[in-house]
Amino acid sequence: MKTFDIIVAGAGMVGATQALAAARQGWSVALVDARAPQLEWPAEGYDIRVSALTRASQRLFQELGAWEAMAAERISPYREMFVWDAGGRGHIHFDSAEVGEPDIGHIVENRVIVKGLHVQVAKQANIETFWPARPVAMQRDANGAELTLEDGTTLTGRLLIGTDGGRSWVRETASIPITGWDYDQTAVVTVVRPRQFHRETAWQRFLPTGPLAFLPLTEGYCSIVWSTAPEQAERLLGMAEDRFARELESAFESRLGPIDEVGPRAAFPLRFFETRRYVDTRLALAGDAAHTIHPLAGQGVNLGLADVRTLTRLLHDARTRRRDPGGETLLRRYQRERRSENRPMLVAMDTFKELFSNDQPVLAWLRNTGLNITDRLTPVKNRILREVLYAGTGN
Ligand SMILES: Cc1cc2nc3c(=O)[nH]c(=O)nc-3n(C[C@H](O)[C@H](O)[C@H](O)COP(=O)(O)OP(=O)(O)OC[C@H]3O[C@@H](n4cnc5c(N)ncnc54)[C@H](O)[C@@H]3O)c2cc1C
Repeated sequence: MKTFDIIVAGAGMVGATQALAAARQGWSVALVDARAPQLEWPAEGYDIRVSALTRASQRLFQELGAWEAMAAERISPYREMFVWDAGGRGHIHFDSAEVGEPDIGHIVENRVIVKGLHVQVAKQANIETFWPARPVAMQRDANGAELTLEDGTTLTGRLLIGTDGGRSWVRETASIPITGWDYDQTAVVTVVRPRQFHRETAWQRFLPTGPLAFLPLTEGYCSIVWSTAPEQAERLLGMAEDRFARELESAFESRLGPIDEVGPRAAFPLRFFETRRYVDTRLALAGDAAHTIHPLAGQGVNLGLADVRTLTRLLHDARTRRRDPGGETLLRRYQRERRSENRPMLVAMDTFKELFSNDQPVLAWLRNTGLNITDRLTPVKNRILREVLYAGTGN
């Protein structure tokens, strides 16, 4: 039996950030994951999974001393965004220079994010790590939470934070239901090198079958997230590289010329859900364990990191006032704040997906007209851009 203040189950991007943030406040933390984090990889090639990080997420990583390590490894700023609709002439273009900012955000490989965090976790004496270790039993009551790992180790804490991803064992074991549905879309992801430079721009074309994104990486490479019907995704995965490159070029209207190189491909079925409760006795859920959205606006991990910011602020209050970190008041506040912030984004992304993944003529006209009008209204456009840039940064 080992005793801690806080147990964090799931040491991915959100869990590792949460463990680090809580430990920096002085709480003793147990950090558990079914797998050891990946800290090494071959010099050649990129991670197939990347995240578009907002300024707020960057700032959180900076505060935790993890951003520098990520930047030293490899990060790619994107300074512009260009979005257009396959079903018409509608488009919108955002440029960070128009609001006097150097960039809109950064594209960072997931393994670079995880490593940057884990380098800091390893330096933190009050975090004890447990991996590879699957929890097999969980108990909670008014006094505390207990997690038993498969090797028989039992961890106790005053608060258990479930950050074990979309198929969260913690959420399921606590019998917390979710509200959501499968999108009937699958994201095909890969890394490609188009002949023309991506101009540090995040490109997204909305096709009736789903959005196709080209996200800028270093040395002219692009990370591709191509959301499409599951049958088409299967075809795209099975195709020879050359044929895939031609299909991709055509779906992207060859905006960056021919595709000269294609990396390994993988597919992720897409779904949408929000947990009915973010909290339970001595338990808080954060990140994908609490909500999963369509990757079309690249917000998933950013929302998870916003959960961490809120919980960290509440834990700071609890510490300075010598209050219980797993007490009901703290948990209720966390749920109230996160639900009211996350829900509008979850609903907006879902509506966006419905509006764009559609070839009905009236909807096509509406969205093309909407995109073009917004594109011409510079003050409105710049306001949207500022919202994107400063959301959650306190500016
Ligand atoms: C194609 C695609 C593109 C995306 N692009 C973006 C983007 O550009 N920007 C963005 O913000 N988001 C993006 N997302 C979403 C983003 O990837 C997720 O929101 C993010 O990975 C969630 O992080 P997490 O730490 O909550 O969960 P995860 O990354 O799933 O981490 C969960 C951790 O828990 C561990 N774990 C799982 N089960 C157990 C268990 N039983 N016991 C112990 N440990 C366990 C896992 O090993 C893992 O380390 C994208 C998603 C997809 C599918």
